[in-house]
Amino acid sequence: MSAELKTCPFCGAAPESERTPFSRLFRIVCPKCEIEMHRVTKESAVAAWNARAEATQ
Ligand SMILES: [Zn+2]
Repeated sequence: MSAELKTCPFCGAAPESERTPFSRLFRIVCPKCEIEMHRVTKESAVAAWNARAEATQ
């Protein structure tokens, strides 16, 4: 199962993703809007991000 990140729903930029070392959460952030999304797993973070992208289109 592949998890692909959609572009930012607000500005269309490609989001960046990383695991935060301090909170141990997976973080997805738009470099332009600085909108962030944090989830425990990468899968749930990507799903949440993509759901948001779809909801605003
Ligand atoms: Zn953005």
